[in-house]
Order: sequence, then structure tokens, then C-alpha cells
Amino acid sequence: MKNARLAAMALGLCAGLTAAELPKAPPAPAPDDRYKADILVVVAHPDDETEITGYLAKAIYDQHRRVAVIFGTRGDGGGNAMGNEQAAALGAMREIEARRALASFGVMNVWFLGGPDTPGQDVLRSLETWNHGAALAQAVRLVRLTRPDVILTWLPLYVAGENHGDHQASGVIATEAFDMAGDATAFAEQIAAPRNRQGISNLTEGLRPWQPKKLYYFSDASHTDFLEGKGPRYATTDTSPSRGIPYYRLAADEMSFHLTQGDTGQVARQAIAKGDFKDFEQPVLLVSGKSHVKSTMTGDIFEGLGPDPIPFVPVRGYRATADAGLSVELGGPWSFYRDFWKAHGLDNLATLLTTPEVNIAPGEHLHLPLLLHNGTGNIANVTLGAVLPGGWTVVAGQAVYPVSAGDTYPVETVLASPSNGDPAWQTVGWKAESGGQTIGSITMRVNLAGGGLPQ
Ligand SMILES: [Zn+2]
Repeated sequence: MKNARLAAMALGLCAGLTAAELPKAPPAPAPDDRYKADILVVVAHPDDETEITGYLAKAIYDQHRRVAVIFGTRGDGGGNAMGNEQAAALGAMREIEARRALASFGVMNVWFLGGPDTPGQDVLRSLETWNHGAALAQAVRLVRLTRPDVILTWLPLYVAGENHGDHQASGVIATEAFDMAGDATAFAEQIAAPRNRQGISNLTEGLRPWQPKKLYYFSDASHTDFLEGKGPRYATTDTSPSRGIPYYRLAADEMSFHLTQGDTGQVARQAIAKGDFKDFEQPVLLVSGKSHVKSTMTGDIFEGLGPDPIPFVPVRGYRATADAGLSVELGGPWSFYRDFWKAHGLDNLATLLTTPEVNIAPGEHLHLPLLLHNGTGNIANVTLGAVLPGGWTVVAGQAVYPVSAGDTYPVETVLASPSNGDPAWQTVGWKAESGGQTIGSITMRVNLAGGGLPQ
């Protein structure tokens, strides 16, 4: 009885207070505006940003866009055009070169995901060495921190050219982060509010979900025909109204900070010394990846963008498809991309190339992973045979494969290319047969003019 009376008195006291008598809580802090970006650039190596600085110069100097940059690696691989420093030491230098280059453009918000520079053309190998999950978590965190309207990144597609696996990995991770940063269940620890933001032991991060609005890609393919008309195109020969010099000249100045890199920083330094900028006058070609606002494919990057945030847009996600009958397809990065584009609503990327293509050096081996699918209820013997132009030889893969019912048999095929590649573009293939019937074939265009990265 006594306890009940005390409880009633306590309730009465609370109910009797007016709002004016209650302590007033401070406003909830807004996201830190110093980190807000209009454009977030996601690339793999220091100097990768130079692929689009002819456009960024316009965006920064004349449109006053805020730009932030994520590098997947510190660029700890490759040669050093300045001295003997290599590997981790080279990465330490290249981080500073990148920070100085971007600071010259007024871009101070620059982060590195910590992946190792992984030379090769296979995106899956780079995702493996980068520790894909950790790199993605950091990319999602930085999208939530920078709250970009637009993300610009490398094209996630296997093309002939330099086609660095790291470039493609940055494009894959940027695409995944674009689609995940607005999902409150993805890396939820990043968005849980701290108990007391001014105290210690606040182990969650207090960010907010963020849905970017547009995603664009760029590529360093050896040919650009398939990129034309697939997105905005920016001339670099226009003169910056605010700076009074062409955008390519501003791009050359930015590139000249990357002095450890013979094919960018040193080239820019020589161009500036000679006053010859012909290598800098190409337009910046972008591919429209996806847009969550109404806009046209080749319109300006900021076309259709309003000031307000947009709600989370879920993606289709992966859907398993049943294999019917017997079939053969390219495996590895090619089968990954086939599923990745569908899962992320990027069907436009599936039609950029009509035939798959690679770039290798004359005499180099060509690895083509194949997948033999058996959607029947019986074991099947599948015979793989190469279809090759003169000068090519089979190193591995030509055999009869027992493929279990309902199973997929992965085969690593290896072809040796001729040592003097002439003509530059050649077509090779594999044919699969079973029970005297052709069940499928693979065709690959090979650019033997290359060199550069191993395939
Ligand atoms: Zn690169």
C-alpha cells in the first residue's frame, strides 16, 4: 500500500511538469559538411585519377563541385622513374604524390583502401588480394561519410588494353558500395548512433545511410569505339573560364606530380617543358552505369540532380538460373561479370562488347577458364577442342571431360600465342561436343599488339 502511494506520487510529479520545465536537449548534430562531396572518384592506383582530370578540372574550377577520391592501393607495384625505392617504400611515395596532385586541384579528402598493387588483368585475383570484404566495408563507410551525388569509377568489364585487374576491382567495389551504402542492414555498425558522442567507448560510428544518385564508368581500353555514345563526353580542349587555359593543361599540371610513374608524371613533366600537349587533348569518355533520377544517357553528369537526398533503391540481386541440357561458357571473370551486371542492374554493360576480348603480348600464354554445364540427369562426356588460327598451339585443356549430372566442370584452358603477332587482332576459340553433337563454342578476340600486364 505504501509502495503504491509512492508510485502514484512519482507519476503525478512527472505528469505535472510542463515542457518549459523540462531540460532542453541540443539539436542532433548534422553530418560533417567538410566531407560532403558532389563527386566521389573510386580508382585503384595513384595516377588513375588522371584518366578523368580533363573533366574534373571543369567540375572543380568552373562548376565548383566538391570532389573526394578513394584509391584501392598505394601503387606499390611497377617501376620507379625517380629512384630505387620499391614496393612498400614506393607505395609510401605514391600516396604522397597522389595527395599533392589532388591538393593542387583543391581536393583534400583522399583515402586509401590498403589493397596491394596486383598486376594482372583478372578482376577476381585483385579482389582476392585486396581482401574484398574489408575493402568494401571501407568503401561503403566512405560513401556514407562523403554522401556523393555521383560516383565515377573504372569500368567493370574485361577489355583489351591495359585492363588492370585492380582497375576493374575498384569498379566492382564502387558499384557494390553504390548499391549498399543506403541499405541500413549493410555494415549496420557504421550507422548505429553512439551512446554519447563526446565520451569514450562509443564503438559504433554514427554515420547515416546514403543512396548516391548516379554511377558512371571510364576505361583505358586500347580502342574507344565501344564507349562512344554510351555516356557523357567532355572535350578537354575547351578553355576554363576561371583559369584562362585549356582543361588539358590543368590535367597535365595535376599529372606532373606523379613523378615516380614514367608513363604519366614524367610524360606530363616533359609535355609542360616542351609546351607540347597533344597527348592530353583526348576527350574524357564516360559510360552511364545507372541513374536513380530522370536523366539522359549522354547528358551532363549533373543532369536531373536535385538538392534533396533520395531514398534507398534496392537492386535486383543475384538469382540462380538452372542450366538446361549441356552447355559451355567462359568462366572466371567473364561468368562473374555476367551475373554481376544482372545483379546490379547494369544490363547496359553486357552489350558494350559484341565479342569478348583480351590483350596479351606475342608469345604469351592465353588462359581461358571454361565452365562445362550438365543440366541433364545423366553423366555426360564432353570433348573440348581448340579452334585456332595458324601459329597458335594448345598447352592445356584439350580432353574428354566426364561431367556429372546437374554439375559444372571447371576447366582451365591454356593456349600459346605466336611469338610474332601479325595481324594484331586474331580470333581463337574452343568447341565443345558430346555424343557427336556440338553443344557450344567460345570465341575470343585477342589483341597481340599489347604487352603490358600478364593476362
Ligand atoms: Zn592504374
